Amino acid sequence: MIKVTNTLSGKKEIFKPLKDKQVNMFVCGPTVFDVAHLGHARTCVIFDAIVKYLRSQGYDVFYLQNITDVDDKIIKRAAEEKVPWKKIALKYEKLFYRSMKALKVTAVSHYARATDHIPEIISQVERLLKKGYAYFLEDGIYYDISKFKDYGKLAKRTKEQAEDGVSRIDDAVGKRNKGDFCLWKKSKPGEPRWNSPWFFGRPGWHIEDTAIAEKYFGTQYDIHGGGRDLIFPHHEAEIAQMEAISGKKPFVKYWLHTGFLTINKEKMSKSLKNFTSIDEFLANTEDGARVLRLLIIKNHYRSPIEFNEKIVDQAKREIKSFDEFIERLQRVEKKEQKNRLKIDQFQKAFKQAMDDDFNTPKALGVIFTLIKQANILLDKDQLSKEDVKNIQIFLKDVDNIFGFIFGGAKKNIPPKVAALVKEREKYREMKDFAKADELRAEIKKLGYIVDDTPHGPVVKKIK
Ligand code: AMP
Repeated sequence: MIKVTNTLSGKKEIFKPLKDKQVNMFVCGPTVFDVAHLGHARTCVIFDAIVKYLRSQGYDVFYLQNITDVDDKIIKRAAEEKVPWKKIALKYEKLFYRSMKALKVTAVSHYARATDHIPEIISQVERLLKKGYAYFLEDGIYYDISKFKDYGKLAKRTKEQAEDGVSRIDDAVGKRNKGDFCLWKKSKPGEPRWNSPWFFGRPGWHIEDTAIAEKYFGTQYDIHGGGRDLIFPHHEAEIAQMEAISGKKPFVKYWLHTGFLTINKEKMSKSLKNFTSIDEFLANTEDGARVLRLLIIKNHYRSPIEFNEKIVDQAKREIKSFDEFIERLQRVEKKEQKNRLKIDQFQKAFKQAMDDDFNTPKALGVIFTLIKQANILLDKDQLSKEDVKNIQIFLKDVDNIFGFIFGGAKKNIPPKVAALVKEREKYREMKDFAKADELRAEIKKLGYIVDDTPHGPVVKKIK
């Protein structure tokens, strides 16, 4: 039984999809006016792991993510660079996919661009006008929040706060309520524009997500995720739009929000210019994708992550310990059938942790305990090939979700080097250190170095 913390109720609830084991899930994607940074990685990687876990438990998840490819920020960037807005949007969309691929974020079933859903957006605005929830101003069509009695039920407030996605509050003269937001903006000359029953215009920010979601899922679905900056006004506005249109509640059954990735205690963001891009991080960090996935997944999705060198170094050390352990397992030759390690207990503990609101830090703790116990048995030469097989199967299952345990560079070690390392170990065991040193020199000539660790030799390519 999986439990999730639902922002809507503020409580941990039993997870029961609307229909059997089918899960429709939507997570807010990027506004493509700049490169993706570590804050985006935080939200995208953790939802990637959550979806992969749900699938491993037999849920049939359709994971949809939008791409905001029409927005004030894109228009501004295009004007600054004197290029068409579409060029900016396409460029950064492409770079976003590249960063996601590098981070092994592969769970998304479909990416949906706002600009590919203009008819669906217009249809929603039409219905809101017809039902009396929307009104015309000089510069666009606005949503009247006073007409929607439940406005504020997600965020438990109706006014902005510092952490909100405030850059998108639509200011306009004549709004009926301060919090009213734009559904369809009148396009200024040179801006992106589409024809509509009213005037040439472009969509407001909140309406794209409900229009896309309605197309794929209908008027109600299971999970909506995003960073906590989006709770208000973005997700609040989505509820107001869709529940007003359909008359059905709740629009989304479970709302899941991630904590921020912060730097000097401030949210990492493009607007604050305090960001490290994913590409930059990967280019400067050895095994960066695994390191980044680990440092994200070792934190609970709802907790903030304060990003600094210390946590990167710690994650690097942990990745190294995985590599050493995996390599060590490969050297076990003991044929004995007796299983000394109760792998099913670890599997159970892992599942328990993940079922409890996707408690990834606790689940990872189970893996570290397993490695510690297995290393003790290895030291005493008490781990059998059978144990190794069971550990490897379990770790592979875990890695299909986490994506940082396997993949150490060592797997690329040429067979000749691997054979020399093995031979050298035999001489070391016989305490023939002179011969062992000879072989070390031979290995070095082939471009590799051997480190003798308490858990056995670790081989690295010389840079
Ligand atoms: P944006 O491009 O700012 O619209 O953000 C795209 C997605 O990344 C949204 O779900 C945001 O909530 C999330 N996001 C952006 N910055 C951060 C951050 N510093 N920490 C966590 N999530 C973030």
